[in-house]
Amino acid sequence: MTSVRSLPGLLPDELEQLVLSLGEPGYRGRQIFRWIHQRGELQPMRMTNLPLGLRERLASSQSAEVRRLRSIDGLTSKLLLRLHDGQEIEAVEMKTDDRKTICVSTQAGCAMGCVFCVTGQFGFARNLEAGEVVEQVLRFSTPDQPVTNVVFMGMGEPLANYAETLRAIRLLTHPDGLRLGARRITLSTSGLVPEMRRLAEEHIQIGLAVSLHAPNDDLRSRLMPVNRRWPIGEVLAAAEYYIQRTHRRVSFEYTLMAGVNDSDELADELAHLLRGRLCHVNLIPLNPSEDPNLHASTAQRALAFESHLRQSGIAATIRLNRGRDILAACGQLRLAEKKRRETAVLA
Ligand code: SAH
Ligand code: SF4
Repeated sequence: MTSVRSLPGLLPDELEQLVLSLGEPGYRGRQIFRWIHQRGELQPMRMTNLPLGLRERLASSQSAEVRRLRSIDGLTSKLLLRLHDGQEIEAVEMKTDDRKTICVSTQAGCAMGCVFCVTGQFGFARNLEAGEVVEQVLRFSTPDQPVTNVVFMGMGEPLANYAETLRAIRLLTHPDGLRLGARRITLSTSGLVPEMRRLAEEHIQIGLAVSLHAPNDDLRSRLMPVNRRWPIGEVLAAAEYYIQRTHRRVSFEYTLMAGVNDSDELADELAHLLRGRLCHVNLIPLNPSEDPNLHASTAQRALAFESHLRQSGIAATIRLNRGRDILAACGQLRLAEKKRRETAVLA
C-alpha cells in the first residue's frame, strides 16, 4: 500500500490513484470502491473480479469484531470493534419496519468530560479515521438489507474530529457507494460553536442535533464542561445559523436526570429559551453512568416535563431507551468488557 489510509477511507479517485501506482488500470479503483461500499466487502482477497496479483497487494482491514450482541427483541444490535492499535469502539444498529439506523463512534474516548457520559469519564484516546467510521456502518450493511440511516451519536465528539467526520459523510453519501441521502444522516454535537458554523457552510443537508441538557449556563457548565468555553447563547446562535443556511430543523437533546434537570421550572425555562425556533427537543432517559448520584427521571416526571414543553408550544418527544439488555448506550459495552477482563485476570 502506498497510502497511509485504510481502503474504506479512500474516495474513488484516490483508489484510482492507488491502483495506478500499483501499475493497474484506473477503473480498478472504482471496482474496489463498489466492493467496499456497495457490498460491504472488507477483504480484498474476496473481491473476485480483481486480478489475484492486485488483491494480494491490497491491505485488508485490520480491525476485528470483539463482540456482537443482539437484544432479545432482535431489533437492536451492538458491535464492539478492536482497531489495529488495540483501541476499542462501539457501533449500534437499530431496526424498525422501514429503517436500519447505525449509530457510529467518531473517536476512541472523548475529551469533553460530560459528567453523565461513560465515554466522557473514560477520557480521550484518539480520533478515528474516516475509514474506521465507515467500516462500522459497512459491518451492518448487507446488499439485501442495506443501512438506511446513520447517526453520529456514538463515542466521541464528531466535530472535534471534523475533517475525518466530513470525509466519512462524503464516503457514505457517494453515488457509487452506499448512496445514503444526506438527509438520512444526523450528527450530534456537544456544541462546538466554530465547527457548527463551519458545518453550516458545507452545503450538505445533514441533520444537526445539539446536546443541551440544561436551559441555563450555570447548570449546563456543571454537567458539560464544554459550556464554559461555548455557553448556551453562542450555541443557540450557531444552531440558528445552521437552520438559516440549511433550512433544516435542529434538534436538541436533553437527557433527563432525576432531581438535576427535570423539574417543571426548568421545563418552563427551556421552553422560554427555545420559543420561536425551528427545533425539536428529544428527551432521553439517562442510561446508567459511572456517577452513583445520577439517576434516570421517573417515567411520570419525564411525561410531565414533556407536557410542560408541549403546552408552551415546543415540539418534544421522549426517546425510547432501546437495547438496555445489551448495554446499547454509548460506552457501556466497552466498559463492561473491560471490567470482565479485569475480573478474569483477578480470578
Ligand atoms: N459527543 C456528541 C455525540 C455523542 S453522545 C454529543 O455529546 O452530542 C450522543 C448523545 O448521548 C448526546 O446527546 C449525549 O449527551 C447523550 N448521552 C451521553 N451519555 C448519556 C447517558 N448516560 N444517558 C443518556 N444519554 C447520554
Ligand atoms: Fe463526549 Fe458526547 Fe459523551 Fe459529552 S456526551 S463526553 S461530548 S461523547
